[in-house]
Amino acid sequence: MKYVGAHVSASGGVANAPRNAKALEANAFALFTKNQRRWEAAPLSTEVIDEFKRTCADLGFIPEQILPHDSYLINLGHPEQEALQRSRTAFIDEMHRCEQLGLVYLNFHPGSHLKKIPIDDCLARISESINIALEQSKGVTAVIENTAGQGSNLGHRFEQLAQIIDGVDDKSRVGVCLDTCHAFAAGYDLRTETDCENTFAEFERIVGFNYLKGMHLNDAKIKFGSRVDRHQSLGKGEIGLEVFRYIMSDARFDGIPMVLETIDDTIWADEIQLLRSFAA
Ligand SMILES: [Zn+2]
Ligand SMILES: [Zn+2]
Repeated sequence: MKYVGAHVSASGGVANAPRNAKALEANAFALFTKNQRRWEAAPLSTEVIDEFKRTCADLGFIPEQILPHDSYLINLGHPEQEALQRSRTAFIDEMHRCEQLGLVYLNFHPGSHLKKIPIDDCLARISESINIALEQSKGVTAVIENTAGQGSNLGHRFEQLAQIIDGVDDKSRVGVCLDTCHAFAAGYDLRTETDCENTFAEFERIVGFNYLKGMHLNDAKIKFGSRVDRHQSLGKGEIGLEVFRYIMSDARFDGIPMVLETIDDTIWADEIQLLRSFAA
């Protein structure tokens, strides 16, 4: 079964996220459990937690259909000790929020070396950050997102994702989320069926589908291999629709949350219907 949805707003309270997803007739969703552009957040109250769990249960969402995303400020590979510590503390707090909400995944961007440390050092820091977070939380899998490779962001090569995973002690609680726009921007072609076959075969060989815990379904506004992160609505960008047809008819993408982060939220319901039509 394919779980398809969008990264919906949680404004007004986290319980609004499943409501917004239901309004799109989605059976998956992503959300921020706090303001993604701030370091601090008020702790989740028992009332808020209960309301979220109750709403998800009432609307038929199970934790495996939900892919929370962490704050954009966090850099788990930060070259400077103080800033690294701040990121690690914030990430552990995000893991705890997911745990409290009964969620099983936390999706995050691996980190950036800011041109101050070698790539290998940065990747090792990211693995260590994940180890620390897993030790201090339970039940939540750390889900690393591939990036477009913009600036000094790491995780744009499958080899880098594999290297991060290699440094994680508890392999049962680490996974990967593939963003189609980011992969395309990073130089993994997805325009034709053959391109999809090649790219996903490479993913299987270097990382492994056993680690795939989520997908971000986005077309790209930018040229192939440009290493720039600009999402576009499905079929309106440089990738085109073939990859979404491919994903929706391939069983390796069953049972994981697959969410739109496309730029026009007024057509999300239509995009979800379009994706479902590819699976039929
Ligand atoms: Zn992301
Ligand atoms: Zn994404």
